[in-house]
Amino acid sequence: MERLTDEKAVFLLKNGDILTLGQQADKVRRQLHPGNIVTFIIDRNINYTNICVNECNFCAFYRRPGDKGAYLLSMDDILQKVQETVDAGGTQIMLQGGLHPDMGFDYYIDMLTTIKKKFDITIHSFTATEILHFSKITGYSVTEVLKRLQAAGLSSLPGGGAEILVDRVRRIVSPKKLMTADWLNIMRCAHKIGMKTTATMVLGLGETVEERIEHMRKIRMLQDETGGFRAFIMWTFQPGHTKIGGEKLSSWEYLKTLATARLYFDNISHMQGSWVTQGKNIGQLTLAFGADDLGSIMLEENVVRAAGTSHHMSVNTMTDIIKKTGSIPAQRDTAYNIIRYCK
Ligand code: SF4
Repeated sequence: MERLTDEKAVFLLKNGDILTLGQQADKVRRQLHPGNIVTFIIDRNINYTNICVNECNFCAFYRRPGDKGAYLLSMDDILQKVQETVDAGGTQIMLQGGLHPDMGFDYYIDMLTTIKKKFDITIHSFTATEILHFSKITGYSVTEVLKRLQAAGLSSLPGGGAEILVDRVRRIVSPKKLMTADWLNIMRCAHKIGMKTTATMVLGLGETVEERIEHMRKIRMLQDETGGFRAFIMWTFQPGHTKIGGEKLSSWEYLKTLATARLYFDNISHMQGSWVTQGKNIGQLTLAFGADDLGSIMLEENVVRAAGTSHHMSVNTMTDIIKKTGSIPAQRDTAYNIIRYCK
């Protein structure tokens, strides 16, 4: 199939018929993933601290040091959460936190080694934002930071922190956060040492349609170079309790962009639908718009909840909503290997 050009992708986002786009994206999904299987993972986000010096204007999660509600989890708290994840059949944890001004790199290395000593669980953790912070506080190169984390037990890197990979937007919504070139460089460095990652996108941060495609182009080009992205995961900005506020992007816009992304990314295998921001019903509908995976059942989620959006999912509900679309639900691991079919 001919590769979708940027111009065509912009045209589709602006003028494409949503149902036709959905049908085309669904066809691609079925070609890429024969057998009509839709996957999900059981995991937990462990947000070890909400204290952060970056103060992004779109973030409702962070607190300044000393603020009411600011916290730093103890190692015992973290281990307890990992134990609960294992008990619930979870296979992955995502450690993610704010940029704490007082914690040294050893704190993160100890966190990984202590967890790995006690549990056989995949650690898919930290975002590019944290990796750049670790590089700054240690003076190590990004590659050195990643190698040390990998040696301590980090398996793969989530694609968080990408939001919109256009500096015009980033300077408005998160001026202290890493810029586009940093995010891409960290992903490239991770891929080069054999560490797989995902790629993400947050819609509704004031970006133009052209900038959405610019974001996708940068990821598609890097994937051509490294092949290190396992999945593309897209969700919408949740404005509640944030400095920039504003309106939520419509589900219509979300589905249309998801279908276009499925058509655009001829080099990324998996496309995830976001029930966490869209709710169960639209989450289910993403499976007709190119998504082949519904991500995690999220035993714990704090970042989206801080912005006032809270949807819940159990394994039974997850399998039920997948079955109702005529697909076969399957629990997967971090690398998208099937662990079990839920027939
Ligand atoms: S988005 Fe991340 S880096 Fe920005 S303020 Fe929130 S926790 Fe900090």
